[in-house]
Amino acid sequence: MMTLLDGNATARKIREEIAQQVNERRAQGLAVPHLAAVRVGNNGASLTYVGAKVRACEEVGFKSTLVHLGDDTTEAQLLATIDTLNRDPDIDGYIVQLPLPPHINEHRVLLAIDPAKDVDGFHPENVGRMALNLPCFLPATPYGIIQLLERYHVPTEGKHCVIIGRSHIVGLPMTILMQRNGYPGNATVTLTHSKTVHLKEIVCQADIVIAALGRPGFVTADMVAEGATVVDVGITRIADPTKKSGFRIAGDVLFDEVAPRCAFITPVPGGVGPMTIVSLLANTLQAVLRK
Ligand code: NAD
Repeated sequence: MMTLLDGNATARKIREEIAQQVNERRAQGLAVPHLAAVRVGNNGASLTYVGAKVRACEEVGFKSTLVHLGDDTTEAQLLATIDTLNRDPDIDGYIVQLPLPPHINEHRVLLAIDPAKDVDGFHPENVGRMALNLPCFLPATPYGIIQLLERYHVPTEGKHCVIIGRSHIVGLPMTILMQRNGYPGNATVTLTHSKTVHLKEIVCQADIVIAALGRPGFVTADMVAEGATVVDVGITRIADPTKKSGFRIAGDVLFDEVAPRCAFITPVPGGVGPMTIVSLLANTLQAVLRK
């Protein structure tokens, strides 16, 4: 029997729990969490993502502030904005939406964010704390995946987890989280990437597959063991004239043929995507509680 890891339903449930905590704070006369998002330029995808994040804040009763800077913003100007956000006691957490225009050094920008307000969990201090299993902000997508596994009680202890893709925002942190001594965790982890040889044979041995490479339909049924758990992180826009938007979203897993073999599987859309946004909200609430 295959169980769908329903990210929409799970994210809705977590949003309700967060909204409840916000209401309790308000009833006690405490400030509600305040998330700011910085967007530089007019990249289409970041526009969509930032919009969705701001809407999600409003839904749970957070305050949100969108700081929109033009395409011609210099690195110094962006760093000055970050300094202001770091000092502003009214802002609990903020994100700088990536990618940044090419003339801005992403690393210098991420380093400038106060780790206590870094609700994206990209600052090296938070990454280091995650690796050492200390309190930190987990990056939103891995945090969302962990919460999805946890809410569905997916067994992870002693399982072989194969991760495809080693990005700093998904694949790499997933290896850290899945090997941790706790639940979800205690898995034996293999990290694969574009230079991996015999990838198919390795993925075939997995009890848990986490696909985060950004290649539509890459994971096929012949790569997945019977009874495996499959988490599809991929989000690729594919032109589709039958859709009002002109595109559809494709995951990294060929869902229709892989799903019947699985114990658990995430759909795309409606799997990891909604969990990512709700995890940002969870981090922002934690930023307030840690103050
Ligand atoms: P990325 O594009 O930064 O890196 C891709 C990784 O895949 C690289 O480490 C590369 O080595 C590996 N890779 C590429 N081709 C491969 C191959 N043939 N075999 C094995 N490994 C290969 O990755 P990213 O930023 O983590 O994004 C991956 C996908 O996840 C994208 O589709 C992205 O849109 C999506 N994504 C979704 C969410 C979400 O909220 N659901 C969040 C972040 C990213």
